[in-house]
Amino acid sequence: MSKADYYEVLGVSREASDQELKSAYRKLAMKYHPDRNPGDHAAEEKFKEASEAYQVLTDADKRAAYDRYGHAGVSGGGPGGFAGGPFAGGVDLGDIFGDLFGEMFNMGGGQQRATRQRRGDDLRFDLTINFEDAIFGTETEVKIRRLESCETCHGSGSASGRGPSTCPQCHGRGQLRYQQGFFSVARTCAACSGTGSIIGDPCQSCRGETRVSRERKLNVKVPPGVEDGTRIRYGGEGDAGRSGGPSGDLYVVLSIRSHDFFERDGHDLRCVIPISFPQAVLGAEIALDGVDGPVTVKIPEGTQSGKELNVRGRGVPYLNEKGRGDLIVRVVVQIPRKLSKAQRELVTKLAETMTVDNKPTSPGLLDKMKDLFG
Ligand SMILES: [Zn+2]
Ligand SMILES: [Zn+2]
Repeated sequence: MSKADYYEVLGVSREASDQELKSAYRKLAMKYHPDRNPGDHAAEEKFKEASEAYQVLTDADKRAAYDRYGHAGVSGGGPGGFAGGPFAGGVDLGDIFGDLFGEMFNMGGGQQRATRQRRGDDLRFDLTINFEDAIFGTETEVKIRRLESCETCHGSGSASGRGPSTCPQCHGRGQLRYQQGFFSVARTCAACSGTGSIIGDPCQSCRGETRVSRERKLNVKVPPGVEDGTRIRYGGEGDAGRSGGPSGDLYVVLSIRSHDFFERDGHDLRCVIPISFPQAVLGAEIALDGVDGPVTVKIPEGTQSGKELNVRGRGVPYLNEKGRGDLIVRVVVQIPRKLSKAQRELVTKLAETMTVDNKPTSPGLLDKMKDLFG
C-alpha cells in the first residue's frame, strides 16, 4: 500500500520550482512512455507514477495538501483538493512574517554579505497514535523543545539592546582579503562569520546567540483518516531565526500503532474470520468488535472459503469528503483435523449423499468456476 514519495519519484527536492518539476517529469516521461516500451509493465507503472506525481506537485493547492499530509492529503480528494479540509482556515504566520522581516533586514547596505538574520530550522516531531485515533482523528498535546527569540534582549543579542555593531576585523565587509602570491583571495571573516557585524556586549541570557532553548506544549489536531507517515505541518512553530529572523516550521510525523486484527487498506479495513464447514454451508451471522462498536457479518448460505464479504461504511473516513470505506471480512473455512466418533459418523453419512466429480480441471477454469459460484 505504501506509495512512493512524489518528490522522490520525480527525483527533485521538496523546494523544486515548477520549471524543475517540468524538466524532471519530461525526462522520466521520455524514458518510460508506453509507446517507447511496448509491453513493459514496469515501465508503464513508472510512467503512471511520474505523471501522477507531476499532476499533484504542479497544482499549488494539491502540493500544499501533499506537503502537509502526504498521500492522505491528495488521495480521494474531491475537486479543490484539500481546500475544504480541517486546517484550511489556519493562517501561516511564519510565511507572512518571514517575508516581511526578510525584506526589512535586507533593505540596508545592499552589499553582498551574509545577513545576521536567517530563517530558523524546521523541526520534526514523531508522534505515535493508536489505530482507532488514526481512523477517527484525535487531539493531543505534545511537548517540543525549540529555540525561541531571547526575551531578555528581544532577539538583538546585546545586553544594552543596541544590537550588533560593525565588525572591527572586516569593517563590515564580511570578508577579508589575503595576498597569496600574485593573487588576492577573499575569505569569510571569522570574527563575524561573514555577517559584517558583531555583538560587543553579549546578552547574559542567550550569550549573544539571540535565541534560547525552550520547551513548549503544542496542541496537535490529527484529522480523521490519516495514514502512517502522514506529516502535519505547523508553519512558524519550528526554531526561531537568529536575530529575529523568521521561524522554521514544525512537522509532526505520524506513525500508527497496529491493530490486533484489522489492517488498513487505503480507506478499507480488512480482517480474516475463520468459520466452520457447517457455517459455510448453512450460513451464519458473526458478531465482531468493529473500530466503532459491534459489527454483524452475515455469511450467506454456501459461502466459499476465501470469500470476501463487504460491510459497507464501516471502514476509514475520507479525509476531505463525507463517507467511509468498507470493512472487508475474508472468511476462511476451517477443516477440522480431528473428529469425534459422532462427528465422523455424521460426515460419513453426509459424504454418502454427496457426489463430486473429481475429474482434473485446469487452474484457469477453476477460477472461472469460483466467479460463478463464489
Ligand atoms: Zn538575549
Ligand atoms: Zn567581520
